[in-house]
Amino acid sequence: MVSRVIPVDPFDLVIFGGTGDLARRKILPGLFRRFCAGQMPDNAHVIGAARTEISEAAYRDMIRDAILEFGGVEKTDEAQLSAFLQNLSYVAIDARGETGWRDLKALMRRKVVRAFYFSVAPSLFGDLAERLNNHGLTDHNSRIVVEKPFGRDLETAQKLNGDLAAFFEESQIYRIDHYLGKETVQNLMAVRFGNMLFEPLWNSQFVDHIQITVAETVGVGGRGEYYDKSGAMRDMVQNHLMQLLCLIAMEPPARFDPDAVRDEKLKVIRALEPVEPHHIVRGQYGADVDDPDEHPDYRTAVDNPKSKTESFIAMKTHIANWRWAATPFYLRTGKRLCARSSEISIVFKDTPHSIFGEEAGRHRNVLSIRLQPNEGIKLGVTIKEPGPGGMRLIDVPLDMTFADALGPEGADNVDAYERLIMDVIRGNQTLFMRGDEVEAAWAWTDPIIEGWTNSNDVPKPYDSHSAGPDASAQLMRRDGREWREVTP
Ligand code: NAD
Repeated sequence: MVSRVIPVDPFDLVIFGGTGDLARRKILPGLFRRFCAGQMPDNAHVIGAARTEISEAAYRDMIRDAILEFGGVEKTDEAQLSAFLQNLSYVAIDARGETGWRDLKALMRRKVVRAFYFSVAPSLFGDLAERLNNHGLTDHNSRIVVEKPFGRDLETAQKLNGDLAAFFEESQIYRIDHYLGKETVQNLMAVRFGNMLFEPLWNSQFVDHIQITVAETVGVGGRGEYYDKSGAMRDMVQNHLMQLLCLIAMEPPARFDPDAVRDEKLKVIRALEPVEPHHIVRGQYGADVDDPDEHPDYRTAVDNPKSKTESFIAMKTHIANWRWAATPFYLRTGKRLCARSSEISIVFKDTPHSIFGEEAGRHRNVLSIRLQPNEGIKLGVTIKEPGPGGMRLIDVPLDMTFADALGPEGADNVDAYERLIMDVIRGNQTLFMRGDEVEAAWAWTDPIIEGWTNSNDVPKPYDSHSAGPDASAQLMRRDGREWREVTP
């Protein structure tokens, strides 16, 4: 199956922070892949902008190396790479000063879409917005893209929103959550709202509970200083897990358009109940016993022997509305766990009565939506175990792993960043967070984090390569449930 690629309109894209890690690892290699796929018009112009004083030639060399390293292409086509780099420029610019802004203006064309990607620390967002405006670089059709973290609490998020709103309309602001750019996340909406099968069962009457797990095998790596001020709640739950929860729990929007979808997501966040402290488990990973020097425990990794920051969190939460009042949502995320796996599981209730008797066994239907790796959707159904020996029931998966079902073209060969950048150029905000959503999410997380600050509780230690602290399993067992296994 060959996927359709619809080229986007001509554009000028400025990447502030164009020499940084994100630009080199994700944004520019992603743009190159879209270029190879024929989605970028020939005259698309990409401009790297950062503080470093380097020549355009040196910048192109830097990005050539980055694409070769991170492009994810088995064999890079030299001719295509050269053609892509031809349309790449560089300006040395200071977000907080006046250097470079005139040069940038001279490079930009009229009558094409202008997009400005703020791939810099959030403390520079306001400065960039102001200078873009003061130097007359934007018009009503220009867009800005901002990276996470969008604030560290409600107050800072409100301040950031205010700084951007001083110069841009909400319809021009694209707040990235790259989880929303994943193919399966959009497929989740297609499955829910494109089939008659699921939606009638999508409520407390039929769903026992929902689990969302985002497990990583890596530790904090070189980001220790940043991470220790953030923790799993701010780094993962407030944005990525919350967004996934919204897409699962929201009411059907009237249309698949940005505000209809985001209105429904916002209602979910506002309906989230405060979380009871005993419904949350925090953890910190221990050293890798096989290689403690290379992979030390969390506190050593962040160089803070008294750190109370969580590298793992598991929690139970409820949504106070008619659809979900009686269905708990269990969220879990952590670093240095036994497998890298992001999965949402909708666990349906038992059948009301088993006609086969208890010895046949009882199984629950589970719809698993797997975001990474091996993106796909699986529905566990109960059938008779084949062969003689009476009626025994087993679970088999109705499996739709995209690579198997649709061939290699159908697998997610489009990275989330590529998809989202193309959406920015198209002017489609559906997969971006609106300012009020982000604020509502902080309003829900702030009291939880404040509670930890004011308590003497510390995160529980857990072994590297495990599924987290034992208390996480107990959180489920107290409710007569089990976490789904974390498998690669
Ligand atoms: P980085 O430190 O590697 O790069 C920062 C970039 O900003 C550099 O190009 C630097 O020259 C530029 N810069 C710094 N001060 C400047 C100034 N005054 N004027 C102009 N340019 C300036 O950071 P990064 O890892 O690329 O992250 C960029 C942003 O993206 C951050 O907000 C980060 O939180 C976010 N983010 C990064 C990742 C990632 O994987 N790296 C993932 C998600 C979000």
